[in-house]
Amino acid sequence: MGELMNLAFRERLRRFPDPVVTFVADTNPNYTNVCVTGCRFCAFCRKPGDADAYLLSPRELADKVRAAADQGATTVLLQGGHHPRVDLALWQDYIAAIQDACPGTHIHPFSPAEIVFMADKEKLSVEEVLTVLWAAGIRTIPGGGAEILSERVRGIIAPRKASSAQWLAVSEAAHRLGFATTATMMFGHVETDAEIVEHLFLLRDLQDRTGGFTSFIPWSFKPGATVLGRQVSQGVHAARYVRIIAVARLVLDNFTHIQSSWFSESIAAGQLGLLAGADDFGGVLVEEHVHKEAGHDRKATLENVVTIIQRAGFTPARRDSRYEVQSVYPPPSPLGTADAITA
Ligand code: SF4
Repeated sequence: MGELMNLAFRERLRRFPDPVVTFVADTNPNYTNVCVTGCRFCAFCRKPGDADAYLLSPRELADKVRAAADQGATTVLLQGGHHPRVDLALWQDYIAAIQDACPGTHIHPFSPAEIVFMADKEKLSVEEVLTVLWAAGIRTIPGGGAEILSERVRGIIAPRKASSAQWLAVSEAAHRLGFATTATMMFGHVETDAEIVEHLFLLRDLQDRTGGFTSFIPWSFKPGATVLGRQVSQGVHAARYVRIIAVARLVLDNFTHIQSSWFSESIAAGQLGLLAGADDFGGVLVEEHVHKEAGHDRKATLENVVTIIQRAGFTPARRDSRYEVQSVYPPPSPLGTADAITA
């Protein structure tokens, strides 16, 4: 493990000789928790008609984004369940309402799985849906819903969700239209090591063709309150998370950024990931529901995240969703800082 971390860290230093770690101040409001796809790993979704099911209006969503922007968020990662009554016109209304309320906030919306669902619903091609988003001013798309790109795994954990081929096809189509997207992986359930490696090579092959992925973002399955959690009750050990980061840095040699997250795992695992090849620390996340519903509730302020990065020995830098650095914080002090960490 030590040798693997060392190799991956050397590769990181080859790409980024300066000990700078980026993060983004973002928020992740979900426009609806209603979903008819029913993934077995999901604690967030509700059925239409459930007592706590909701669908935000464009005004309500824009108010949430405005509140987060007032707390410093510069990006909104916008995703929701697969709601049978949400159409493309409502997606456009959400985007317009946020643009109107928060003109400076970058909108990073709609995973490939949602785009496949929307194309089916509207009887449009994926390219036509993407073209509507482009015309609305969207330039980056989150890579959620990849889980593990294996039909065997998806047949167990998410049989009604977009297939591996569809997830890859949306990403490729988006790249060809000019969007930058992220690549994700949710591991620690029923996948094998070989399937993780296959997932990474599928991403690398697509990146060779398009160059459109900005970063790779892995996170571990959170079993709390999920159907799958009755079968896979153990969370992922931090050592495995760090190993995944290191392997990703070495295999994904055509990806610029690898993310290690304090939020999806723990502060210690996030910091160790920075020593295993990651150069990015993810988001501050003013608002988040998906992990919280699975019992994984993390909170930190922007100042906390800066301190966590400094205490791992790196210089924090705030970025936007295109990974352009906006501001650089002081480098770590040998004496550390006195800020409280509440995450
Ligand atoms: S993970 Fe997404 S698509 Fe799957 S059930 Fe949850 S909200 Fe729906």
